[in-house]
Amino acid sequence: MTVISKSSPLLKLQAVKKYYPIKGGILKKVQAHVKAVENIDLEVFQGESLGIVGESGCGKSTLGRTILGLEEITEGKIYYKDSEIQQLNERKRKQFKREMQMVFQDPYASLNPRQRIGHALEEVLLIHTKLSKQARKKRVLSLLEEVGLKKEYYSRFPHEFSGGQRQRIGIARAIALNPSLVICDEAVSALDVSVQAQVLKLLKNLQEKHQLTYVFISHDLGVVRYFCNRVLVMYLGNTMELASSQQLYENPLHPYTKALLSSIPRPRVGNKSERIQLTGEIPNPANPPSGCPFHTRCLLATELCIAQKPNWREIEDSHFIACHHIK
Ligand code: ADP
Ligand code: MG
Repeated sequence: MTVISKSSPLLKLQAVKKYYPIKGGILKKVQAHVKAVENIDLEVFQGESLGIVGESGCGKSTLGRTILGLEEITEGKIYYKDSEIQQLNERKRKQFKREMQMVFQDPYASLNPRQRIGHALEEVLLIHTKLSKQARKKRVLSLLEEVGLKKEYYSRFPHEFSGGQRQRIGIARAIALNPSLVICDEAVSALDVSVQAQVLKLLKNLQEKHQLTYVFISHDLGVVRYFCNRVLVMYLGNTMELASSQQLYENPLHPYTKALLSSIPRPRVGNKSERIQLTGEIPNPANPPSGCPFHTRCLLATELCIAQKPNWREIEDSHFIACHHIK
C-alpha cells in the first residue's frame, strides 16, 4: 500500500496565476491576456495521486507546466517541501528539477527519430548525474526492465515501438532520476483501452515501489476515478471543486462537476433528476465572465453569481468548492 502523508504537503500552490500575453498591432503591444490559470490554491501530499479534470482549454496542462517551471509563473507562490521554488539557489533548483518529472501524452514527439532508445535514456543520466558510461548503460537496462520492456529494445529506434511501448519509454525517462513527483499530462489518453489499463497498472506499481506522488491530468473522468485518490475540477483556469474521488464521483456538489459527470455515459452518477446538461460555449479565457466563471452556463446562476466571484473554501473535511449555492 502506498502511504499518503497528510502532515505536510509535498507541493503547495498559493494564489498561482499564469497569464499569456496576447500581442497585436504593428508595434506588437500586449493587448490582452489569456488567463490560463487563475488564482489557484492547492496542496499535493506525498504518495497521493491527485487527478486534475476539466474540459479542454481549462488550464490543466498550463498548471502542470507552471508547477514544473516550464512556464514562468505570472503571480503567486509554489512551495516544494516547504521551500519556495522561485527562491531556490542554482544548486537546489537543479535538485528540484530532478525531483519533479513529467510524462506527456505523446512521448514520440520528444524523441529523436534517429536516436536509439537506450541512448536517448542515457542522455538524461549524462546531463543530470555523474554516472560513468558503463553505469549509465546498466541503469538504462534496468529501467527498461522496470517499465516492462525487453533489454534488447535498448538498440531500437522510436518508430519500432507501439504507442503503449513508447509511453513506457516516456515513463522510464520520467523515473530515470528517481523523482518524488511525476506530473502525467494525458499520459494514457491516446492509448487503446486495454493498453491504457496496462500502463496505468505500471504507474501504480511504480508508485508503490518508489513512493511516487502523481499529479494526473486527464480529460477522461473514468480513468481519473480509477487512478486517483483525490480529484480537482478546473474550469476556465479556476478551481471549482476538490474532493476525494469517492466524494467527488458519488456526491458531487458543484453544478459544473455535476454537469461534467453527467457527460460520462456509464456508470450513471448521482440522482437522475439532478443531472445537469452542459450547454453553451466555453467562454474566452482572454475575456472571462464576471463573478463566477461558470455563471454563463450554470442553471442555478443568480445575480450574485454574476456580480461576485465565489470564494474557494473548505465546506467539509478536505472537500473544497467555489460556488455561492452550496451552503
Ligand atoms: P488544457 O490542458 O486544460 O486543455 P491548456 O492549459 O492547454 O488547457 O490551455 C489553457 C488556455 O491557455 C487555453 O485557452 C489555451 O489556448 C491557452 N494557452 C496554452 N498555452 C498557451 C501559450 N503558450 N500561449 C498562449 N496561450 C496559451
Ligand atoms: Mg492539456
